[in-house]
Amino acid sequence: MAKLLEPLIMGNPLLLQRSEEVRDVFDPEIQENIADMLATIQNIGERVGLAAPQVGILKRIVVFRLPSKPVHDRYKSIADLGPQEELPWHAIINPQITPLSNKLETKWEVCVSVPGMMGEVERFVDIQYSYLDEKGNFHKREAHGFHARLIQHEVDHLDGILLPMRVKNMMKFGFESELVNRI
Ligand code: ZN
Repeated sequence: MAKLLEPLIMGNPLLLQRSEEVRDVFDPEIQENIADMLATIQNIGERVGLAAPQVGILKRIVVFRLPSKPVHDRYKSIADLGPQEELPWHAIINPQITPLSNKLETKWEVCVSVPGMMGEVERFVDIQYSYLDEKGNFHKREAHGFHARLIQHEVDHLDGILLPMRVKNMMKFGFESELVNRI
């Protein structure tokens, strides 16, 4: 039975650590971690991704989804979703990113670990990433725009980097309740 985990918020030192590679995908503990992460983020609702360290698990695991349309008003400001592949909630393990071009884009992001805040962050527009799924299969995927931004945000968590640490212009960082109507 999956458990609901407590999301950690900025200030907790665990969010600043580098998470460990998963050595054995078939370890029952890993399967349990994934089930708990999925239950936790789905319970929070209106979210698109969660990295394991955000719930205190220092392992390189991310769960995310790609909605076909924004799941909350905030996402209209974050990125133009445009036509894209829709993906249900699923886990990626030991993800590794390779940029496919030097093209960068600055857009708004939010984070479960930085509740109520949003900030403008520069990310690669086109990436490729590899990962293992929860059955141990190796995958390589291309990602563009919102998808690419989401993966870069989540992999940052695995390296102990939070979105405010990526904001270059602090005038573009503030409370979501204020900003969402102004951008
Ligand atoms: Zn985050």
